[in-house]
Amino acid sequence: MKLPNLQEAKIRNSREVQYIDAQIVRDLSLFKGKNYFIKTYGCQMNVHDTELIKNLVEGIGFTEVEKMEDADLVILNTCAIRENAHDKVFGFLGRCKHEKETRPDMIICVCGCMAQEPSVCEEILDRHKYIDIVFGTHNMHDLPNLLIDKIKKTTIEVPSIEGDVIEGLEYTRDSHISAWVNIMYGCDKFCTYCIVPYTRGKQRSRRSANILSEVEKLALEGYKEVTLLGQNVNAYGKDLQDELSFPELLSKVSDIGIPRIRFVTSHPWDFTDELIEVIATRENIMPYIHLPLQSGSSRILKLMGRRYTKEEYLTLFDKIKKNIPNVAITTDIIVGFPGETEEDFLDTLEVVRKCEYDNAFTFIFSPRVGTPAEKMKDDTPLSEKESRLARLNCLVNDYSLKANQKYLNEVVEVLVTGPSDKGENKVCGYTDTMKLVNVIAPKDTIGKITKVKITEAKSFSLNGEVVR
Ligand code: SF4
Repeated sequence: MKLPNLQEAKIRNSREVQYIDAQIVRDLSLFKGKNYFIKTYGCQMNVHDTELIKNLVEGIGFTEVEKMEDADLVILNTCAIRENAHDKVFGFLGRCKHEKETRPDMIICVCGCMAQEPSVCEEILDRHKYIDIVFGTHNMHDLPNLLIDKIKKTTIEVPSIEGDVIEGLEYTRDSHISAWVNIMYGCDKFCTYCIVPYTRGKQRSRRSANILSEVEKLALEGYKEVTLLGQNVNAYGKDLQDELSFPELLSKVSDIGIPRIRFVTSHPWDFTDELIEVIATRENIMPYIHLPLQSGSSRILKLMGRRYTKEEYLTLFDKIKKNIPNVAITTDIIVGFPGETEEDFLDTLEVVRKCEYDNAFTFIFSPRVGTPAEKMKDDTPLSEKESRLARLNCLVNDYSLKANQKYLNEVVEVLVTGPSDKGENKVCGYTDTMKLVNVIAPKDTIGKITKVKITEAKSFSLNGEVVR
C-alpha cells in the first residue's frame, strides 16, 4: 500500500477502501523514515499474517530492520497453541520494555492468537502498561489506523466477532519463489484441546474467484510454488452456498499451471476419495500430506472431539498410501492428554508403527485457557508424560530416518529456495515430498527446480549433488 500523493492517498479500512483526510495523511507522515521490527511465533498462518502486516506498515512509511534495538515500531505476532508460547512472548517483551525505558517513543504492538485471548488482554492492561497497541486476528488490516490512534493513546482493539472475509489485502511476501495463499479463516471443529476456534473464529471460506485470481497473479509473477492455507482446508467451501468443494478448488488451482501446489492443514474427517483422486492424478499437486493423528486411542480421540476412530484413521491412511504414488505423510501427536493411560499410549505407538510416518510433530498436552480440555481431570504426572514423549520420539525418529534412507542414490527434483546454513557453497530446497535437501550448487540455482542425486540421508534432511 503506497501513498502516491495527498489527493490520491487512500487506506484499506475494515470493509472497503476509504479515502482518508488531510489530517490522517499528516499523521501518516509521522511514520516516514521510521523503522519496524517484527517477530513471528507459531504456524504458517501466522507467518503469512506477518506478510500482510509488513505490507501495511511499509505502506505508511516504515522500513524493516533486523534488530528490535534499531526499531521505532516493534510488533510481536503471537501464537496461542502452546503454553510456553506465552512465556516466550513475555520474555521477549521484557527486553522491549527495557529498550523502551531509554527510547520512550518506541511503539510496541502485540497481535495474533495470544492477543485474541481475553485473559492476555487483561494481563497486558494490568501489568504490561508499556505495550502500546494490542490487536487481534480479526482486525490486522486495521493496523495503520491503530497506529494513528496510538499517537494519542494506548490502543487495545480486539474484536471478538470475526466479521466477513476481507478481500483485496496485499502482502509483502518473504519469498519470490514460494507463496502462501489463504483459502479460509478460522475453524468450526472445536477439538476440545484447541484454542483456534476461539482465537481465529468460525470457519469463513474465501470465494474461489478471489483465490483463483490471486493464484493467477502469482503465476504471472513467476512463483514456482503455492501453498493453500487454512486450519482445515478439506472443509473449504462448506460454509458458503454455491461454492466449489476443496477438490474442485484444488483442480482449478492446478489448471493455472504453477509447477508446485501444496496445501495445509487437513483434518482426516473431511478427507474425501475425490480429494485423493485429484492429488493422485494432477502432476503439479505435490504428493505430500500432513494428516494429524493426535492420538492412536479411539477413547482419547473421542475425548479430544476428533470425530474419527483409530480404525477410521488407519483406513484413510491406507487409502491415501495405496492411491497416491510415493506420497509422504507427516502428522501431529499429542502425548499425555487428560486421562491418557499407558494402554492408550500403546495404541498411539501401534498406529505410528503401522503408518511409519515420514515425520511427526510431537507435543506434551498443555491446557489452553477456555477450552473444554482445560477442565478435564488430568492425573498423569509430568514425568510420566515426558517419558512417553521420549519413547514416542525414539520411534518417530527411527521411521523418519528410514523414510529418508529410501532416497539414497535416487535422483529427485528439488525446488531450491535459498542458501543453506550448512556451508557457504550450499543451497537448500525441498523435494516434491517436502524433504529438506542441502546441495552443493551455485546460488543461481535458487528459484529453479533442479535434479539432485541424494548422497546422504539423515533423520531430518538429505544431502545431495546436482545432476549435470
Ligand atoms: S481441526 Fe485443527 S484448528 Fe480446528 S479445532 Fe481441531 S485442532 Fe483446532
